[in-house]
Amino acid sequence: MTNLTRADFETLDKNDTLAPLRDQFSLAQDLIYLDGNSLGVLPKATAAHVQQVITQQWGVDLIRSWNCNQWMQKPAQLGDKIGQLIGAEAGQVLACDTTSINIFKLAAAAVKMRPGRSKLITETGNFATDLYLLQGLAKLLGDQVQVVALPREQVLDAIDDDTALVLLTHVHFKTGAMWDMPAVTQQVQQHGALMMWDLCHSVGAMPIHLDRVNADLAVGCTYKYLNGGPGSPAFVYVAKRLQAEFEQPLTGWLGHAKPFDFNDEYQGANGIQQAMCGTPPVLANAALEVALDVMLQADLNQVRQKSSHMGDLFIQLVQQRCPWFQLSSPVDKAIRGSQVSLVHDQGYAIIQALIERNIIGDFRAPDHLRFGFTPLYLRYVDLWDTVDALVDIMTHDLWKQPKFLAKQAVT
Ligand SMILES: *Cc1c(COP(=O)(O)O)cnc(C)c1O
Repeated sequence: MTNLTRADFETLDKNDTLAPLRDQFSLAQDLIYLDGNSLGVLPKATAAHVQQVITQQWGVDLIRSWNCNQWMQKPAQLGDKIGQLIGAEAGQVLACDTTSINIFKLAAAAVKMRPGRSKLITETGNFATDLYLLQGLAKLLGDQVQVVALPREQVLDAIDDDTALVLLTHVHFKTGAMWDMPAVTQQVQQHGALMMWDLCHSVGAMPIHLDRVNADLAVGCTYKYLNGGPGSPAFVYVAKRLQAEFEQPLTGWLGHAKPFDFNDEYQGANGIQQAMCGTPPVLANAALEVALDVMLQADLNQVRQKSSHMGDLFIQLVQQRCPWFQLSSPVDKAIRGSQVSLVHDQGYAIIQALIERNIIGDFRAPDHLRFGFTPLYLRYVDLWDTVDALVDIMTHDLWKQPKFLAKQAVT
């Protein structure tokens, strides 16, 4: 394989059809941001829109806004926009709450839909909240269900006719390894169990076809690849064919069939609306709406193509120039999400040394350096410059300075 040069990356940028989208984001010219898989970048249009919602809708229209500015309809409207990104026809997605809360809602509903089955299967090393929420649900339900958490390669063999639910993260948060969504969904359903996909690390990074793969349930967040902003609402997907029997446990008033009748007895709304619990976060929804409109301008096939290519190039550069690291992500782009992770036992300090140079990646304990590729605003030369900086930091042991070794609260 011929050695790459910076000029190769400049050429790729020149020919990149997604490159103009970078201009829609508020991103300093000298910043290399490889953490859009954790907190996406601010779209330039967000601040003005949120400002307008504050000054006009809240400041002037006040409570009339629930109707005249459609504050109450936003969770469903935003849900349908997210639906376009994950292959879901309208009426199956709702923007609400956090991914954590949504996992609980859907997992509890799944147990109800599969009475008599006792296993909730997931993988060890899944994102911690996914494991914790299943554990909390099992505790709440007493002996009725158990969490079966197994290493990745044992998960599929464990699915049996006593399985109520399988919860997997489509793209692994640490390694970037990607499950085969159609095949796994089908296998789970062959045993009569329900499948819940956590899409946190894939939504907005690649085309997803929930309806086409006959998915059951899904959740995901909007502050990563979707750029909705810190703490922006998450989403739930419940397939239309399951909605009639879907009963989620957080029976708040806005999931009621007629919330403004204020009846004493709960009666769940038909359809996805029942996934609602309480009052929607109007300001966060405003920021999310702008971000989704930006995302919807991009062709997700092109996004996927660019991010896969970036992953390939990054791996190639690391293999050519960085003997210090072990690769933790799959080399095969077909089973790799939109990130590449490297392993080094001093990963934390190395990432801090990069951050000091305005190259932002992140660290995941105990030893993963994580680099996320977000094709809407990342340039190919950013990859070259990152590896160049890594080579400098490693060759000269620059990460060994005490200021890089002290751990901060959020990594
Ligand atoms: C980011 C992420 C979450 C986040 O959950 P919150 O409730 O938003 O904190 C959940 N699951 C996975 C797999 C994630 O990557």
